[in-house]
Amino acid sequence: MTTTRPPVFVFSDLDDTLFSSARKRAPGPDSQPAALLRNGDVVSYTNGPQRAFLDWLMRDARLVPVTARSIEAFRRVLLSFSGPAIVSFGGVLLDDTGREDAEWAAHMAKVLGPSALLLQEACTLLQAAIDARGLNAWTRVVHEGGLAQYVVAKHREHDAGALTQLDTEVLGPLLAAHPGFRSHQNANNLALLPPGLDKSAALTFLLSRLRAAHGEIVTIGFGDSYSDADFMALCDYGMTPRGTQLGHRLAGQKERAHAG
Ligand SMILES: [Mg+2]
Repeated sequence: MTTTRPPVFVFSDLDDTLFSSARKRAPGPDSQPAALLRNGDVVSYTNGPQRAFLDWLMRDARLVPVTARSIEAFRRVLLSFSGPAIVSFGGVLLDDTGREDAEWAAHMAKVLGPSALLLQEACTLLQAAIDARGLNAWTRVVHEGGLAQYVVAKHREHDAGALTQLDTEVLGPLLAAHPGFRSHQNANNLALLPPGLDKSAALTFLLSRLRAAHGEIVTIGFGDSYSDADFMALCDYGMTPRGTQLGHRLAGQKERAHAG
């Protein structure tokens, strides 16, 4: 009697999980471009061990990106993925052909609609604080298909401490007044997420789809950041790269402001 093995799916974050920015890990002779900036410059690379790991994963498993990147930023990633992808912190599910999944889009339109005004207000408050403090930083509301998804702020000189202050002093009172909203910072990336925008919510939806199509599946979550932990916890197994925000936590080390 032959038994059929269930397919293995790896749900993986991208930045600092499958590849690293040149700023965080200087490219070496074995580095290959992995992601571009809007102007076409290479911003991130894979090194030899990262590619060996990726090749090994893709040989036997199906790799599904689960990223905070917008659709536009996801398309600047040079690795090729053939299946579905969760992008924009879970706000968007792309199908195998790269098109938005209509059922998830309709759901998220209902979920995110009521938060649009507050996201814009938060962005205005952040911009006012950036200006008042003379910070070399920027902030914007990320939209997909006309729908406000989340607010992002970054410091152009990678001053993570300045972003932590913005989080505490500007977003803190807003979070206290609006339950369900949450902020997340990993190094030079501060985000304000509205209720319902969550990588794990999108993965829950996708998992039910995949189980309907394939029956039993084996699932592995792979991520580097605290904001990945919830979606990883939905999976049978979890993996995290060493030297990252989650990696430090696993190792029992205190989070470092500049850890990936
Ligand atoms: Mg990451």
